[in-house]
Amino acid sequence: MHYVVMDLEWNNTYCKRLGGFINEIIEIGAVKLDENLKTLDTFSEFVKPQISRKLQGRVKRLTNLTNEEINTGDFFQDVIEQFGDWIGEEPTTVLTWADGDIRTLISNYRYYFGTSVLPFAGRYVDLQKYCQSFIDVPSSQQIGLSTAAEQLGINPDLYSHHRALDDSVLSADCLRKVFHPEKLAAYTKKCDAQFYHRLEFKPHAISNINHPLVDKSLLECKCIKCGETAVRQTDWKYSNQYFRADFKCENCGALLRYAIRFKKYYDHLDIRHTTSEIDENDNKKRKRHYYKPKRKASVKNKQ
Ligand SMILES: [Zn+2]
Repeated sequence: MHYVVMDLEWNNTYCKRLGGFINEIIEIGAVKLDENLKTLDTFSEFVKPQISRKLQGRVKRLTNLTNEEINTGDFFQDVIEQFGDWIGEEPTTVLTWADGDIRTLISNYRYYFGTSVLPFAGRYVDLQKYCQSFIDVPSSQQIGLSTAAEQLGINPDLYSHHRALDDSVLSADCLRKVFHPEKLAAYTKKCDAQFYHRLEFKPHAISNINHPLVDKSLLECKCIKCGETAVRQTDWKYSNQYFRADFKCENCGALLRYAIRFKKYYDHLDIRHTTSEIDENDNKKRKRHYYKPKRKASVKNKQ
């Protein structure tokens, strides 16, 4: 069994064919390790861009790469074939620092080959998640590679940054600091259909109030002053991911603005809501100066 710790550099660019932006890969770097994390080989290749011939200024500054340099590389289709040959037949776990790189690799692979399935990846580990479990930071916070390296007692200044091979080497050294095969196994995912589906799933807020995932009991607003159930005064409006409506508490007279968001992730629904008291003077002012009702944003609530 081999581990391949890989890192990519990419250029975010508009793609006519997709009608949207894509992170076009410009460099692939990787370190191949045996099951005791001994380095067996390294891989470092430029990828000659085909979607955008011009690197963004930000990418140039970050990587110190020039258009001339990356144009010495082969096309993605060829480099990825070389990469697959380099990985070889040995069962391999691919590791990247956070899942941005694997997502980008999949999106480029799909763009050129029409399929998301990476033939060389049997198993995958998000190395950032794994390393972070050894560092005292909340899991909701994603720490960068240099910060993690420092926390693990590595001096990141000894490595050059934001080049694919150097970042792979630094990531591999982070893994060495916290290598426990059994714990790593718990973070290892099989690259099956569900794996790709999960990575390609785009979290989105639900915009139709009659959607079956919208729990109607949560569309009730409790008065923040007295706790009684308030009565809705306006239609539901959907804006900025939230359903919004104004309520009035018949018990204490408070005017309330209630907003609730249902956001669908691959395997869970995230629900957030806020209630605030409406300042009537403020409301009048706002209506006079800024408030322009839009028919489109109005959501009818069938009860
Ligand atoms: Zn009240």
